[in-house]
Amino acid sequence: MDKKVKNLVVGCGLSGTVIANKIATELKEPVLIIDSKEHIAGTCYDYKDSSGITVHKYGPHIFRTNSKEVWDYLSQYTDWYPFMHNVLGIVDGIEIPIPFNLISLHKVFPKPLADKIEIKLLQEFGYNKKVPILELKKTNDEDLHYLAEYIYEKVFLGYTLKQWGLSPEELDPSVTGSVPVYISKDCRYFQEKYQGIPRNGYTKMFERLLENPLIEIKLKTRYEDIKDTISYERLFYTGAIEEFFNYKHGKLPYRSLDIKIEKFACEKFQNAPVVNYPENYDFTRIAEYKYFLSEHSNVSIVSFEYPEGFEEGKNERIYPILNQETQKIYNLYQQEAQALQNTYFLGRLGAYRYYDMNRTILGAFETFAKIKG
Ligand code: UDP
Repeated sequence: MDKKVKNLVVGCGLSGTVIANKIATELKEPVLIIDSKEHIAGTCYDYKDSSGITVHKYGPHIFRTNSKEVWDYLSQYTDWYPFMHNVLGIVDGIEIPIPFNLISLHKVFPKPLADKIEIKLLQEFGYNKKVPILELKKTNDEDLHYLAEYIYEKVFLGYTLKQWGLSPEELDPSVTGSVPVYISKDCRYFQEKYQGIPRNGYTKMFERLLENPLIEIKLKTRYEDIKDTISYERLFYTGAIEEFFNYKHGKLPYRSLDIKIEKFACEKFQNAPVVNYPENYDFTRIAEYKYFLSEHSNVSIVSFEYPEGFEEGKNERIYPILNQETQKIYNLYQQEAQALQNTYFLGRLGAYRYYDMNRTILGAFETFAKIKG
């Protein structure tokens, strides 16, 4: 063995960075963190374009959490721009709030029909309730059924087929359930107590999380290429669990994204930070970056998201495709993982979960609690 380290962290994305930070700051132990990419921060990576606009290289990231612990933890490393996300969708050529709410209802239907449906929604579910589309579809009332079919067809089906290559029914219900129909006028995309964008960008926040003499970072370094030359007391693996085990129980499927970033010579490109296109085009959504930190410029930078299947060597694993079949395969890998000593799998790829940033951090906290004892 050429090198001996106490803690090896594979992956310098959110879960790897948080676990490295906790080990260095709280246990005061040295950590080597490696990543195959040429930059830190994984898919949270952002950069300032020459126009002064902060661009999220891998698509829009809006931080939100209900956990004061998570919020306070990150707040040691960044100030926040308080940002409440809102999304519009183009449905039948009309801009409507997404998630679909009572305002969306009145935008797409003539008043008498919208009024009638609104009364029924309030009677059936009550004000301020959130109803997943697959639940709404089960209703027996003729008008509510009509509404459910409309929203399913116009908001969910096309988008989900583009995004996942599957229909909503073929996915775990939590996937479309995270964007339920709101029986209210709430136009926020997220309702978490704390929401914001790191004031100086995500990359800067990661730099600060990793700024510790006990943390050594090696970029452009693949675990497979160094694993035979390095020994460690603990391993934290945030890459794909099936790759670690050499695919012995088969592949786990993922969706990927082809993100096309473009600059336009206009001050404002669209009417919301994100606009979804469930019905038209091959992309699912367009994000306009100057919204996130209220940056000003006479140009605007936007990204188009074209979902595609994950293919080794061609693109990145971004979304685990969750259903009963893939869960069974993952469980086999998880059993293997549990049998290993001092080896921990975390993050979206290590845990094969559709984690948002908050859940990713909580996962790293849980792992840290295990080793802290
Ligand atoms: N979704 C949809 N239409 C929309 C927005 C969301 O069908 O206008 C579905 C789609 O299946 C999507 C899922 O809800 O993958 C979760 O959406 P979210 O915006 O949370 O996805 P993410 O930001 O994680 O890509």
